[in-house]
Amino acid sequence: MDGSEPLAKKRMVRCPQCGQPALFSSENSARPFCSERCKLLDLGQWANEDYRVPAENQTPALDDVESWESENSD
Ligand SMILES: [Zn+2]
Repeated sequence: MDGSEPLAKKRMVRCPQCGQPALFSSENSARPFCSERCKLLDLGQWANEDYRVPAENQTPALDDVESWESENSD
């Protein structure tokens, strides 16, 4: 171990789409994404504006809130 790891020369970034390490070089045509798939997914989300509007299924389930309220109503 002398600190001269070959991988250290490869610049890695975090894929904005899935968070996996992505190779940031001309070898990776999908950079800064880890793959072409993530690149397309990200572009698709921008096109649908899903990026700006939180998905409804990410909000707490209404059933949980209602049961909590009824338990504490009296
Ligand atoms: Zn990815």
